[in-house]
Amino acid sequence: MIRAVGKPLEEVIGMVQDYPRILVAGCDGCVTVCEAGGLKEVKVLAAALRLYFTQQGEPKQIDETSLTRQCDKEYLAQLGDRIDGYDAVLSLACGCGVQFLADMYTTKPVYPGVDTTFLGVTEERGVYTERCQACGRCILADTGGVCPIARCSKRMLNGPCGGSDKGKCEVNPEMPCGWQLIYERLKALGQLDRFEQPITPKDWTTSRDGGVRKIVREDLRV
Ligand code: SF4
Ligand code: SF4
Repeated sequence: MIRAVGKPLEEVIGMVQDYPRILVAGCDGCVTVCEAGGLKEVKVLAAALRLYFTQQGEPKQIDETSLTRQCDKEYLAQLGDRIDGYDAVLSLACGCGVQFLADMYTTKPVYPGVDTTFLGVTEERGVYTERCQACGRCILADTGGVCPIARCSKRMLNGPCGGSDKGKCEVNPEMPCGWQLIYERLKALGQLDRFEQPITPKDWTTSRDGGVRKIVREDLRV
């Protein structure tokens, strides 16, 4: 899932301080799972903003809502009959949701309340780590199910760089060396012979290198 973290309150205040009526809009999708932008976080942030602006002697109308998803038009449309009652929207969705909301309500200022960070997993509550960089052509079959693009700091595709120390990455020693993980995984699978087979040069046109991407599923279109 997409992982995000809430922006610092001072940064949020700076974005919305000129607007008297603000709607704080959460998303019940990924950002709820990582506890960055769901209804709970909407309520906490809205309360903090109300308190701040009241203490400044500039009380504002700050209302709360959360949509099932902000990356789907059908849910964004649910704001249609109330959005004109606000001067700005503070979206706690990921960057996709913020942009899609702004696409739909073109004259309404929309601001991001979270920093969208990566596609990752929950190691434990409050600890998330990156697993995928959405390269568009998955090569996990060649690497024992460990992604060298997301989990090797240098995106090495044919073995380690040689800089790891005690199994940790030389770029970020807090993280395991991705290629150490690949080695251990292939060893556990009895597939170390895979190291004899070079991975062919990757076609990066399916990644961000090919520009803005789009998927068209004719079988799903109506
Ligand atoms: S190979 Fe590409 S699609 Fe597969 S996990 Fe890695 S970044 Fe994601
Ligand atoms: S130490 Fe490992 S994870 Fe870090 S850059 Fe080198 S090969 Fe990649």
